[in-house]
Amino acid sequence: MGDNKKNNRNKIRNDIIFVAVLLFAAVVGILYLFVFRESGNTVKVTRGGELYGIYSLSEDITEDIHTVNGGLNRLVIKDGKAFVDSASCPDGICVAHPPVFRNGESIVCLPNKVVVTVISENDGDSPDIIA
Ligand SMILES: [Zn+2]
Repeated sequence: MGDNKKNNRNKIRNDIIFVAVLLFAAVVGILYLFVFRESGNTVKVTRGGELYGIYSLSEDITEDIHTVNGGLNRLVIKDGKAFVDSASCPDGICVAHPPVFRNGESIVCLPNKVVVTVISENDGDSPDIIA
């Protein structure tokens, strides 16, 4: 009798754990989807209004962009985020801008006419990089 009661209690506890695990998995899944949707995966750089280059946010790079006015913007992509490390522009707004990584975020250097925009390539396609 005593053993039966104990088993029942264990069963209920297992059920609660099972439901908790399911809930946890659902929350993690939703969060993951949300974060994944929010984040872009690609950086588009335009210079003087024309396309300069496309870079993946998953690769760490340092790119010196020689601007149309003879200046320089150093674009750095690190840890999935893009930022302007240094620039020749007088205002330094682009350098002061926090790193961008969300879809649609951009860093604009007006004096040098350089725009760095986060985009999501293959929008609509289901990416096959989900582990
Ligand atoms: Zn600037």
